[in-house]
Amino acid sequence: MVSNKYGLKRVINASGRMSILGVSTIHDSVVDAMKTGAQQYIEMEQLVHKSGEVVANYLGAEDATIVNSASSGIVLSIAGLIAKDNRYAVEKLYQSVHTLPNEVIMAKGHNVDYGAPVETMVNLAGGKVKEVGYANGCKIEQIEAAITSETVAILYIVSNHCVKKGMPTLAEVKEVATKHSIPLIVDAAAEEDLHHYIENSDLAIFSGSKALEGPTSGIVAGKKEYISYIRAHGKGIGRAMKVGKESIFGLLQALENYKEKTDTSAEQLKQLEKLNVLNELTGVKVTVQQDESGRAIYRGRIHIDGSVTKMNALEVVHMLKNGEVAIYTRDYLANIGSFDIDTRPLQQGDMEMIVERVQAILGGETK
Ligand SMILES: *Cc1c(COP(=O)(O)O)cnc(C)c1O
Repeated sequence: MVSNKYGLKRVINASGRMSILGVSTIHDSVVDAMKTGAQQYIEMEQLVHKSGEVVANYLGAEDATIVNSASSGIVLSIAGLIAKDNRYAVEKLYQSVHTLPNEVIMAKGHNVDYGAPVETMVNLAGGKVKEVGYANGCKIEQIEAAITSETVAILYIVSNHCVKKGMPTLAEVKEVATKHSIPLIVDAAAEEDLHHYIENSDLAIFSGSKALEGPTSGIVAGKKEYISYIRAHGKGIGRAMKVGKESIFGLLQALENYKEKTDTSAEQLKQLEKLNVLNELTGVKVTVQQDESGRAIYRGRIHIDGSVTKMNALEVVHMLKNGEVAIYTRDYLANIGSFDIDTRPLQQGDMEMIVERVQAILGGETK
């Protein structure tokens, strides 16, 4: 194992795909494409254009461009919509943003921290976030009322980190954006239904290393004019977010594989059956949960009744993470008594190890 060469801790990832663990493991064909890409000379400018075309074809978008992460996809989309085709503003972005419209409308419940705050990416582009609504809701009328001549975009975030209740739907936001001719950017970094978000936005942003299981990279796809604004920043702030040729080749291969990806529900459910023995522990109940957004992802939910077990869910999650092998679960509900096991990133033997660890932590008290 390469990781041992540097003394890194072994990790079992039952959390789904998470940037702090290095996101997904990459398929051999993608690694091969990266190797081929890394070992040949090409004209970078041509590669950037051609690869964008290929991605746009795959996704059925007018145009697209590969960037080095979804985060830089946000930065460059905003920078693009501020500077547009103004070459001076591209070169001297930060001197120019004071005199150009630069407001980005976003529901307060969308201004989340996905590992870094969305707002920071907007600011990095010279944009100013104009938050609309409150922590527990945002009406479409409030978004519409916030639009002024200073508005450069509406930014809509699709993420499990976002507030769900009381939020406007993408369809509603799209209608308002279209009515006022304001570009709609959708950050769908981790989503699987790429077409849906391309159809319902002017610019859609995806992470190359999440659902697509490609190398660290990102995609922005949408209106040709806006994509050309984004590309212009390759000679501006985009240079600090340069995407390597090996990543471009890798991502193209990952997209090709993605097209052929099959539904793995049956395998996931079969894996999850192994969790059922945990039902024998006092105060523990295992259920199966389909993904919140209806994707073909099934996770095992382990409910811990902290009033009868030695430890509550938060403590169990903490113990799992801090064992000799670090087991990361999907733990955003741990404070209210449960955590999830996502089977997709698991490797041979991982599920057995998870079961053993939970049994050991909860001390083998059985019903
Ligand atoms: C992960 C994520 C990002 C960032 O993606 P990177 O490719 O790691 O930069 C942005 N937005 C959302 C909603 C995300 O989930």
